[in-house]
Amino acid sequence: MASIFTKIINGEIPCYKIAEDDNYFAFLDINPLAKGHTLVIPKKEVDYLFDLDDNTLKGIIVFAKKVAGAIQKSMPCQRIGVAVLGLEVPHAHMHLVPLQTEADINFSNPKLKLSGEEMAAIAEKIRTELKQKQ
Ligand code: AMP
Repeated sequence: MASIFTKIINGEIPCYKIAEDDNYFAFLDINPLAKGHTLVIPKKEVDYLFDLDDNTLKGIIVFAKKVAGAIQKSMPCQRIGVAVLGLEVPHAHMHLVPLQTEADINFSNPKLKLSGEEMAAIAEKIRTELKQKQ
């Protein structure tokens, strides 16, 4: 059965999309730790990030770099933190989390409650930054 993230890639489940190319996809985490918290995934459905083949693993970092640059320009933060958990969804993904302090990437923190309009506005802002870089 397709993972929930494959369904997002295929447009069967809605998401706040940030970017896509032939091999990767980025979208806002639905339960964000911070405004702009984004997931970057390979289109290839593999459960665990470090089980990806070497080329896909190398490529996801380069794809995430572009996305992280756009998040950093759009959301006030010191750094974009990177985390790999994969405890919930069995489709490899990297979390990109805008950070002011190290505490901002504690996954035990309560998640932000943002409206659909706020999520859409954040995604739009990040997408606009990405377009300017192209
Ligand atoms: P983990 O597998 O532990 O890295 O956690 C999975 C992450 O995916 C969590 O942060 C969830 O909030 C996020 N998530 C789960 N379903 C969706 C969805 N439909 N859209 C966006 N993010 C999701």
